[in-house]
Amino acid sequence: MACKQFDVVADYLQIPGNERARLMYPKRSLTVALPIHCDDGSTRVFTGYRVQHHLTLGPTKGGLRYHPDVTLGEVAALAMWMSWKCALTGLPYGGAKGGIECDPRKLSTAELERLTRRFTQEMIPFIGPQVDVMAPDLGTNEQVMAWMMDTYSVYMGHSVPSIVTGKPVGIGGSVGRREATGRGVGYLVNRAMDTLRMEADGATAVVQGYGNVGSIAALSLAKYGVRVIAVSDAYGGIYNRKGINLWKLDEHLAKSKTVTGFAEADAITNEQLLITPCDILVPAALERQITEANVGKIQCRILAEAANGPTTPEADLILDKRPEMFIIPDVLCNAGGVIVSYFEWVQDLQSFFWTETEVVDKLFRTLESAYIQVLNMSRKRNISMRMAALSVGIKRVQEAKRTRGLFP
Ligand code: NAD
Repeated sequence: MACKQFDVVADYLQIPGNERARLMYPKRSLTVALPIHCDDGSTRVFTGYRVQHHLTLGPTKGGLRYHPDVTLGEVAALAMWMSWKCALTGLPYGGAKGGIECDPRKLSTAELERLTRRFTQEMIPFIGPQVDVMAPDLGTNEQVMAWMMDTYSVYMGHSVPSIVTGKPVGIGGSVGRREATGRGVGYLVNRAMDTLRMEADGATAVVQGYGNVGSIAALSLAKYGVRVIAVSDAYGGIYNRKGINLWKLDEHLAKSKTVTGFAEADAITNEQLLITPCDILVPAALERQITEANVGKIQCRILAEAANGPTTPEADLILDKRPEMFIIPDVLCNAGGVIVSYFEWVQDLQSFFWTETEVVDKLFRTLESAYIQVLNMSRKRNISMRMAALSVGIKRVQEAKRTRGLFP
């Protein structure tokens, strides 16, 4: 999917054939076997991956995902998207992604810690604050980042907070990092509503995936006055036409660990959720959720791609023929996370920490600049927002590679 998308943009940008492979192939890919002791006394071997897409603009940067479907191909695609996202938002990074094929819900905390430490140990020759910096993604969180930082620091003999971002504030994390992706989604949806001259007050939103990104995006939209009418997680969805009380939902979530079963809403499936009529649809779970099969039934005014790759290229072709739908493509929509990760890395390197107001202000200014560039390009050249966003990102990497030349 990422390669197909790259080819379409490369055709549009008329990138010569001999530069394409250089832009497309990941620089480094590593697969590791991860044996750990399980709580029941058995030993299990998991598989972990890390792909660093390009190192032309600085270290690589990208999340680490724990999910049963993780493969090398998926990680490579996500790494490529990270490259375009970092370039689009002007960050001095190449893209990377990592993952472990596992179901974190079926592992105890002790097993997760052993798995994370083993993975970090295997990665030591491959990572570093100036080489490759990880962050949380699907199925990982601040605690996982803390274990990674600790393992790396023990190995180095001193604390190295800049080895990961998205770690707890108490050990060198940045205020506002946990909320950054969802907050950025909220900011960009609000900007899209301005562009479309839509009123936030009374607009309705549907959010697929009520995890880190989805829950904060929902809250952020609610703060702008939007009514969140449906949300979901891996167990199913809930719907209330009058709007879901997100504060009460959080209380329910704290007890039952899923949004399903919330008393003040009806149960719906994830399939129904995606085609629920609304003003703003926010896929914030997995990739390939909006496909040829359901894209025709989607009824929203703004599609805010908080997840990475939620729309397949086939569905995208159909969306191109539905100009009534305004798309905030993933490389722009969820960029808030990597932007504040960059701020965290900078703060760690300088050992000088900013206030939340400074972080949020810089985040919104960076997103604003990217949004305006993408919107202007899309309008001026009459291309989709996705094509515009990818063009800006890919062009920057292409120019950097050209300027640096080819060694030797
Ligand atoms: P998370 O693990 O915190 O939350 C994911 C949520 O999706 C959970 O509620 C999970 O139950 C739900 N889910 C899983 N499978 C589902 C399914 N089939 N249908 C509906 N819901 C499902 O992960 P996250 O960090 O919120 O990441 C979500 C998406 O955002 C991913 O695509 C990730 O790559 C992307 N993203 C995350 C960040 C970040 O800072 N965390 C930054 C950029 C992009």
